[in-house]
Amino acid sequence: MKTFSDSEADLAELAGRTIGIVGYGNQGRAQAQNMRDSGLSVLVGSPRDASYERARQDSFEVVDIAGVARRADVICLLIPDEVQRTVYTEALASELRPGQMLSFAHGYNIRFRHIVPPPTVDVGMVAPRMIGTGVRSSFLAGKWVPATVAVWQDATGRALARTLALAKAIGATVQPVLETTFAAEAEIDLFMEQAVWASVVQVFRTAFEVLTQAGYAPEEALLEMYVSGEAAEVFAQMRQMGFFKQMALHSRTSQYGQLTRSRSVLPGDLTQSFAHVLEAIRDGSFDQEWSEEARRGYPLFDDLRRNAEAHPMNTVESQLALLIGSQPTAIET
Ligand code: NDP
Repeated sequence: MKTFSDSEADLAELAGRTIGIVGYGNQGRAQAQNMRDSGLSVLVGSPRDASYERARQDSFEVVDIAGVARRADVICLLIPDEVQRTVYTEALASELRPGQMLSFAHGYNIRFRHIVPPPTVDVGMVAPRMIGTGVRSSFLAGKWVPATVAVWQDATGRALARTLALAKAIGATVQPVLETTFAAEAEIDLFMEQAVWASVVQVFRTAFEVLTQAGYAPEEALLEMYVSGEAAEVFAQMRQMGFFKQMALHSRTSQYGQLTRSRSVLPGDLTQSFAHVLEAIRDGSFDQEWSEEARRGYPLFDDLRRNAEAHPMNTVESQLALLIGSQPTAIET
């Protein structure tokens, strides 16, 4: 894979330019603050809502979204993916000028052609591989904000240079930043959500149900599964030491159990199942399903969320928090 080092990214590329941040949520707030601290001129675009007030409290100039399109040289679209098409169509498209840049943090809307910018503007992406609070805290600590970058279209001949400058401004070039494409980023991201994290959700939910039905204390089941933080530590060590090498930190009994059972514990053919998930992403059928769900007002999604929030694990988490004297921490956004 191609990478770009810090020395290949030049903030001067954006000197004298206005960076418009559309949306002041998880990524918008973190990226706007990082860019300002990197010396860029930042303008925030938001309707008059809670985000508007928050950006003003953080001492940003805030205008409506069409105002960002009129004034900014680079427009970073940092609102939820499912509303980007509407916001782009209603507030941005008619205001775009040749030579401007549209920048994304995720490839979805470009990959699935929900947004088709005119050929006269640059289109780039800086996709942090980290939640917004981490983007800000890593930047403040001088640590790397892991990200990938891509260019979809280069109208000015400067699209890559501008994208790398944006990456540097949020802290993503402290270590080399990886080059991707809009399609690869969007497809891998969706695959992680729908294959890997979906499996983790089902594995943990099933483990809880099997253990409690067998009569074990539900609090102890949750402590073992993730409340102790051991699982988070294992993931941290996978990153530090290596996926398999960190196994040396586990007992030999644990290693034997993991290695003997890992290929047989999940029923069915995982390769075929994951390939099916990937195919539905790549051929656009997942996008069609999700777009239709959005058009209908998210009835299935709301139902699934309600079911998840009614699962007994939620109650046990609260009981366990009382027992061990801590509450699950709400993430500050
Ligand atoms: P958020 O859900 O945090 O964005 C919320 C912001 O968007 C708020 O300012 C909200 O305003 C505004 N907003 C919501 N709906 C509308 C609308 N219809 N019109 C105008 N403004 C609206 O988004 P994220 O920061 O999570 O995601 C932004 C982008 O970053 C996405 O492309 C996402 O895929 C990508 N990304 C996100 C990551 C993450 O960790 N969350 C990681 C990497 C990439 P209000 O106050 O009114 O709600």
